[in-house]
Amino acid sequence: MNKKAMGKILKTLEKQYPMPNFSREKPYEALIGTVLSQRTLDQTTDRVSQALLKAADSPKALVKMTERQIARIIRPINFYKTKAKRLKQIANIIVKEYGGRIPRTREELMSLPGVGPKTSDAVLIFSYGKQVIPIDTHVQVVSERLGISDEKDGYKKIQAKLNALVPERKRDSVNYLLVEHGKKICRKHLPKCGACVINKFCRYYARTGGEYF
Ligand code: SF4
Repeated sequence: MNKKAMGKILKTLEKQYPMPNFSREKPYEALIGTVLSQRTLDQTTDRVSQALLKAADSPKALVKMTERQIARIIRPINFYKTKAKRLKQIANIIVKEYGGRIPRTREELMSLPGVGPKTSDAVLIFSYGKQVIPIDTHVQVVSERLGISDEKDGYKKIQAKLNALVPERKRDSVNYLLVEHGKKICRKHLPKCGACVINKFCRYYARTGGEYF
């Protein structure tokens, strides 16, 4: 894969999945949502995030809740007890060290308990509008099939490979486009290669002709 081919892929996907006018998420809401979303279905995350945000609409309000109260609200989420503990710790740090404001740098975000690169990048792009590419399952699957990354690559390596192919000013659309494509066409199981608008650029398609193994 080279920059020119990547540019064509993104252009084609932009036509296929026009970018909606996203309103920026509040950083606190993005942080809560991404912590809760780890290993949990999107619908469950959305529902439970709303319930928690209703009970505590700021880090200061979350600090006042007990771990048990948080756990009771987020119970439908996987690993809810661990996540309740983390959320409480995160809220405490944000209130004590950042005066209740969500940090704006990757390093500060990643120093919060249980907050990894994916959560940090999600907050940076969706709340602060930074030009970063969060790597989730869809981005990982599509990147690997296209031949951008390899099976063994971890978060940092996939992101570095994408960054090397996409100019900084275009990076904020990459997650959206690859996630849409991953959900609708390049599904983890049974990708619809015959209907794929970027199949001529795809390593997987060239190797398999779209047969799923
Ligand atoms: S051709 Fe198939 S594997 Fe390649 S990007 Fe399209 S759907 Fe995914």
